[in-house]
Amino acid sequence: MGTKTVYEDCDILVVGGGMGGTGAAYEARYWGRDMKVIVAEKANIDRSGAVAQGLYAINCYMGTQWGENNPEDHVRYARNDLMGMVREDLAFDMARHVDSAVHKFEDWGLPFMKDAETGRYLREGKWQIMIHGESYKPIVADAARKSADKIYNRIMVTHLLMDESKDNRVGGAVGFNCRTGDFHVFRARSVIVAAGGASHIFKPRSTGEGMGRTWYAPWSSGSAYALSIQAGAKMTQMENRIVLCRFKDGYGPVGAYFLHLKTYTQNAYGNEYESTWYEDTKAMVGEYIDHHPTPTCLRNHAFIQEMKAGRGPIYMVTKEAFQDPHLEEVGWENFLGMTVSQAVVWASQDIDPKYTNPELTTSEPYVMGSHATCSGAWCSGPEDLSPEEYFWGYNRMMTVDGLFGAGDAVGGTAHAFSSGSFTEGRLAAKAAVKYVNDLKDEKNNVTDKQVDDLKKTIYQPLDNYKVGRNEIVAGTVSPSYLLPIQGLQRLEKVMDEYVGGISVNYMTNDKMLERGIELLDTMEEDFEHLGAEDLHQLMRAWELKHRLLASQSVAQHTLFREETRWPGYYYRGDHMKLDDENWHCLTLSRRDPETRKWTMEKAPVYHLVD
Ligand SMILES: Cc1cc2nc3c(=O)[nH]c(=O)nc-3n(C[C@H](O)[C@H](O)[C@H](O)COP(=O)(O)OP(=O)(O)OC[C@H]3O[C@@H](n4cnc5c(N)ncnc54)[C@H](O)[C@@H]3O)c2cc1C
Repeated sequence: MGTKTVYEDCDILVVGGGMGGTGAAYEARYWGRDMKVIVAEKANIDRSGAVAQGLYAINCYMGTQWGENNPEDHVRYARNDLMGMVREDLAFDMARHVDSAVHKFEDWGLPFMKDAETGRYLREGKWQIMIHGESYKPIVADAARKSADKIYNRIMVTHLLMDESKDNRVGGAVGFNCRTGDFHVFRARSVIVAAGGASHIFKPRSTGEGMGRTWYAPWSSGSAYALSIQAGAKMTQMENRIVLCRFKDGYGPVGAYFLHLKTYTQNAYGNEYESTWYEDTKAMVGEYIDHHPTPTCLRNHAFIQEMKAGRGPIYMVTKEAFQDPHLEEVGWENFLGMTVSQAVVWASQDIDPKYTNPELTTSEPYVMGSHATCSGAWCSGPEDLSPEEYFWGYNRMMTVDGLFGAGDAVGGTAHAFSSGSFTEGRLAAKAAVKYVNDLKDEKNNVTDKQVDDLKKTIYQPLDNYKVGRNEIVAGTVSPSYLLPIQGLQRLEKVMDEYVGGISVNYMTNDKMLERGIELLDTMEEDFEHLGAEDLHQLMRAWELKHRLLASQSVAQHTLFREETRWPGYYYRGDHMKLDDENWHCLTLSRRDPETRKWTMEKAPVYHLVD
């Protein structure tokens, strides 16, 4: 295995070639005809990221051309679902551009389902349109491939580089090739981080024989957050983790079932249960329970309470809808094009939804900025919309100069989903091109020392293993190193037990969080001793370190926000109510890259749309 060093100098480096990254590569070429655009991707962009397996619906499409929805409507929707807390400038900006991105997907060959009568895209719900989406990812990857100067697949980016000639300015990124072991140095004038959200930071329901199965992509290792945090970027709303109601054991999504098949839920005794919890929820969150549609977290809350009351399992009533052969076909296809494992679980458990109502469950928490919650980096909004506190020069630029984000990386833009993430990539790239143009001839300075120090750090787990394996006492146990899987399970356990995971019914409080943070800090020291047996394990080691940083951020934010803003996502037992008087605001954090200390602050939440 070589540790050859490969250098690449470019104008725009895109880290992560998922939905945000492919959108960024495409748009960077449009505005930056003569710029050098490089993508560095951990897997292979043809099948990478959360959309790797395909999707059945594009969840964010306004349909403004047909008068279906306007961007303002989407801001209201996202704000309502998030209990008031979104960055309305970013949300509006995404919504006003998302339709044009979707039209491009169709031009590029993605098959859309059409309404036979109107010829419009077939709606699954108010915001969702239905696609034959198995090939979604290869199609957008193709657009990125034709746009970028070079796509580097199999590169795990571990750290951002900083420009040493100017404070707080990004200078590129480094990582290693997971197949060859080569060390890659990307010196870049601007960087767009689009490396996806975080699964496997809380202990999953699927352990043992089901280990590895999660709802969000198991390979989403929080790199978008960790890379930004390491560079000193401010983060926002990291406490706003998401818990999903999903089909049990396969984590099959329920959207098409609720919206298109019109299935519904009931408890073990055949009763509707959500209304049972109305008064209880109202006492916690006040009038938010009367909003329409009911915020997702509050529906989760009723589910969790009903289970705690001993009236589970909760079932999805499919037996009625599945009598219609067309709906039966849609129900199965929904999984075959997106979450094959759910169909396999049903087959293995003798569940035919035509005759048996399948069980639902609430998942372990995930952290992401593009789905129905909005954790991520604190980014500038667009100049025509954003109030002063939300604007510092370039759209989607983080608080580090030249560092941009898209998709899960960006905080505050909930309900962007696949199409909105691609759109955000486009917006970030357009701004990054402007940023690079404004730099004119200014060169950035990344010293050999910075690069050499990082190289040593990155490959350390291989050395730890090489030395420590001589001390193996039983099978895989060595007194001088931790394997990545051992570290992962320790991280998941601490997050689960102290920061509000499944085993405590999503409950935490100040004391639990303080202890959790201590344990996470100890883990940071211990993870200096991770041992990697090969390059694959080296990737696992760095994924784990990224997950740890994302977890620390989640714990810090959860401790800071002294209220229960989203019952059903998590509960602060010491502050069991939503508190609009003190906490109708966004939360911000920054980890000092030198001292590793976190500082927290509040930021105003501006309601820009009526
Ligand atoms: C199960 C599931 C169902 C979903 N259903 C829908 C749906 O029906 N409709 C819809 O519109 N949206 C859906 N989504 C949401 C959608 O997939 C995401 O919103 C979108 O993919 C987020 O885009 P992103 O670019 O931020 O992340 P991703 O698309 O996940 O891309 C991140 C990329 O970064 C790469 N990467 C990660 N770490 C590194 C690193 N350290 N170095 C280099 N590269 C790295 C990854 O390999 C990946 O290619 C679903 C998501 C999931 C998981």
